[in-house]
Amino acid sequence: IICTGNPQYNTHGAFTGYIGACVDITELKQLQRQKDDFIGIASHELKTPVTSIKAYTQLLESMMRKKGDLKEAGMISKMNVQINRLTMLIEDLLDVTKITSGRLQFHQTWFNFNQMMQEVVEDLQRTTAKHTLIEDFNADTEIYSDKDRVGQVLINLITNAIKYSPDSDEIIIRTAIENNEVQVSVQDFGIGIAQDKIDKVFEQFYRVSGDKEHTFPGLGLGLYISSEIIKREGGKIWVDSVEGKGSKFCFSLPIKARV
Ligand code: ADP
Repeated sequence: IICTGNPQYNTHGAFTGYIGACVDITELKQLQRQKDDFIGIASHELKTPVTSIKAYTQLLESMMRKKGDLKEAGMISKMNVQINRLTMLIEDLLDVTKITSGRLQFHQTWFNFNQMMQEVVEDLQRTTAKHTLIEDFNADTEIYSDKDRVGQVLINLITNAIKYSPDSDEIIIRTAIENNEVQVSVQDFGIGIAQDKIDKVFEQFYRVSGDKEHTFPGLGLGLYISSEIIKREGGKIWVDSVEGKGSKFCFSLPIKARV
């Protein structure tokens, strides 16, 4: 039960009492739990067949290539791209259920920050012929964090930068060390975000509605998951953006002393 109240005063400013309201949110909580359970079960059930399809199509593609059936291999390769997208959507849904139930696990190790950045950026550069990912890396330091989870944040920010800048071709990725933190920014020159929507983009399932020219696929989970990961790792995540000019997504992570 949630109760809110306001103190009341008479015309002379003397306190006369409280007016309050209490709302029973039991049903709301139950609905929320049912929704979370449904997302968890549905994504778990989807994952098994998709994983199996993926294994077979990958095998099929390499068999076709070996046989020299390049046209067929090309078609299966396109299927694989879509299966990978599907897998990522399912993984995002699974991560959301883990976050809401407090089961998102972290495996922290020491790793070189710039090196991790380079690996992720190299992989992502292969996924786009149109965009050039420009590296300006100045964080040659070891940090103690979950490498895969931090990589996941970077993948989310860079794939968004690619997706939401269909008419420009440069994305600048910077790293720096400041105040005992590593700082990262991913800057694009794409559609940008309106000022009144900017605070909402890190919310679960929030998507800025597309205009007529552009409709972008997605579930509105990548930034929510990214912000939860960064918060759990003791860092901050934020965005500066101008509609029609582009966006700069940034995050920072503490550099812990190695003992
Ligand atoms: P998705 O991209 O799947 O919708 P995200 O959580 O990654 O989900 O992003 C939430 C919303 O924030 C997006 O729907 C989009 O409207 C906006 N957004 C995210 N990144 C960018 C960007 N680089 N440029 C413009 N808008 C963005």
